[in-house]
Amino acid sequence: MKRILFSLLIISTGLLNAQNNTSYWQQHVDYKMDVDMNVENFRYTGTQELTYTNNSPDTLNRVFYHLYFNAFQPESEMNARLTSVPDPDARMTMNKGTKENPEIVSRISELSPAQIGYLRVNSLTQDGKELQYEEVGTVLEVELAEPILPGEKTTFNMQFEGQVPEQIRRSGRNSTEGIALSMSQWYPKLAEYDFEGWHADPYIAREFHGVWGDFDVKITIDKDYILGSTGYLQNPQEIGYGYEQEGTKVKRKGDKLTWHFVAPKVHDFTWAADPEYIHDKLVAEDGTVLHFLYKNKEELKENWKKLQPKTAELLAFFNEHIGPYPWDQYSVVQGGDGGMEYAMLTLITGERSFGSLVGVTAHEMAHAWFQHLMATNESKHEWMDEGFTSYISNEAENVIMGSSSPNPHTNSYRGYYYLARSGREQPQTTHADRYAMNGLYGASAYSKGAVFLAQLEYVIGEENLAKTLNRYYDEWKFKHPTPNDFIRIAEKVSGAELDWYLTDWTQTTNTIDYAIDSVEEKGETTTVILQRKGLMPMPVEVDVTYANGSEETFYIPLQMMRWEKPAEEEVKWTVKDDWAWGFPTYQLEIPVAKESISRIVIDKSQLMADINRDNNSWDKSGEEDSSN
Ligand SMILES: [Zn+2]
Repeated sequence: MKRILFSLLIISTGLLNAQNNTSYWQQHVDYKMDVDMNVENFRYTGTQELTYTNNSPDTLNRVFYHLYFNAFQPESEMNARLTSVPDPDARMTMNKGTKENPEIVSRISELSPAQIGYLRVNSLTQDGKELQYEEVGTVLEVELAEPILPGEKTTFNMQFEGQVPEQIRRSGRNSTEGIALSMSQWYPKLAEYDFEGWHADPYIAREFHGVWGDFDVKITIDKDYILGSTGYLQNPQEIGYGYEQEGTKVKRKGDKLTWHFVAPKVHDFTWAADPEYIHDKLVAEDGTVLHFLYKNKEELKENWKKLQPKTAELLAFFNEHIGPYPWDQYSVVQGGDGGMEYAMLTLITGERSFGSLVGVTAHEMAHAWFQHLMATNESKHEWMDEGFTSYISNEAENVIMGSSSPNPHTNSYRGYYYLARSGREQPQTTHADRYAMNGLYGASAYSKGAVFLAQLEYVIGEENLAKTLNRYYDEWKFKHPTPNDFIRIAEKVSGAELDWYLTDWTQTTNTIDYAIDSVEEKGETTTVILQRKGLMPMPVEVDVTYANGSEETFYIPLQMMRWEKPAEEEVKWTVKDDWAWGFPTYQLEIPVAKESISRIVIDKSQLMADINRDNNSWDKSGEEDSSN
């Protein structure tokens, strides 16, 4: 018995030392913050007590905090990038010239000292000991007084102050729609340390990665301000504004109110405040309380009321197709500069058509799963949060808006094709800040990222993809999954080998191009010569329409998958010999005379992202018809 225990101990220690995802661990934080906001000058002061648990197998001698608001200063790295990238974000620039002679300048460059953002640390201790630290742009570098050993906890106490910048990007004061405070990335936030080491990324453009934990936050602010926030309000009877128990009276005391929120198991904490918010609530089918906060303006009301039942439908769709939303509330709040996802909350601009309002809510709410539950590192694997979110929100919108399109991802495919043919594509492994242009990031993360999943349906089948998403949720919620973690789930669910798919699609700019080279008659059989012209491998489905109107699909497995896709469709499904990637051509034998065939098409579903569809079809009438 003892011997068995001893060998078990060795095995588990061995696993702990093997630094890859076969032995998953993650750090843990517990934040307690108390902040006081001055709504006249947009300055705030705060205290932060942070209990940090080092679950890594490593001893830590330093830690890092993000000071995101420091990006909104004329001398910042964010501004340097903004003024040097060829296609700056239009929200971050303004035209100082005329329409005819435009002079586009950075809005950050124009900020006065009273308008910039900043976040300053005034004191910091570790278990009572003063710490040495240095503010380096948007990152605070901290030398620890005592190393944090594996498995140990330490407590940091901090005093900090900040100034909310004019809204330039995502957060800030006085948004274009007049929202007073959009408070995201507003507090000193501990950087994540994981199996790849520290992620103390400077705030240049995008995006975020954080440590999982529990938040307890008190926000003191002028009593006229109404808040939407991450977490659950602990003192609704002192606050009111629609948070109180229905039918009860609330007595507010003093000039300021202290809003007390707790948020369990999140990696971010965001809030917004405005004195003119309307606050509506809707309890969804699963019991989640949906909060809607928007400006009290006549022209907004109709769309924002109609949005509410649609949000409940979206929640139900994501619950079913990904996994149950685990928190008790979700808030849709007018704020920010477009749409951005946060824990239990989104900030969206609100002056939109109804379709656009539902569209942005669908996208941001889907991020509650693909970022706030399966929390990928958005800087490293931007396609996993933006792409997966785009995929599932396209699917959801298609259903709840009643469009019922057979392929709701056509815009994503279009975006990807444009990118692939541009000659400027960079692999999806590019850090999100380091694309040559913003547009290249967008097409890669959103469009090519959505196609990753839509095309995976072609590769492993609809049912396997659906099961993969559910199992991804089951195994990776409240964690930090990597691309390999996702593809391993798809492999385990389907049984197919899929490493090639992850490698070629996400780590290279290889493209897919399969072609029908020729169709030859040999007596009572027809030989179709297929060609692989692109470098990226794929299984090939050849759809044949016979002269009598019947249809048949010939499925050519990709040999390196060591697997065959199960037949799904109504049409006749015939599995042919494997195609090994190294062979540039393949002979497909169809056991009928050529005159009995009217049309041959490679992948009529168009889910395979073939960059040249002109060579995918053959028509009896035109022989080389390319009108697919
Ligand atoms: Zn997004």
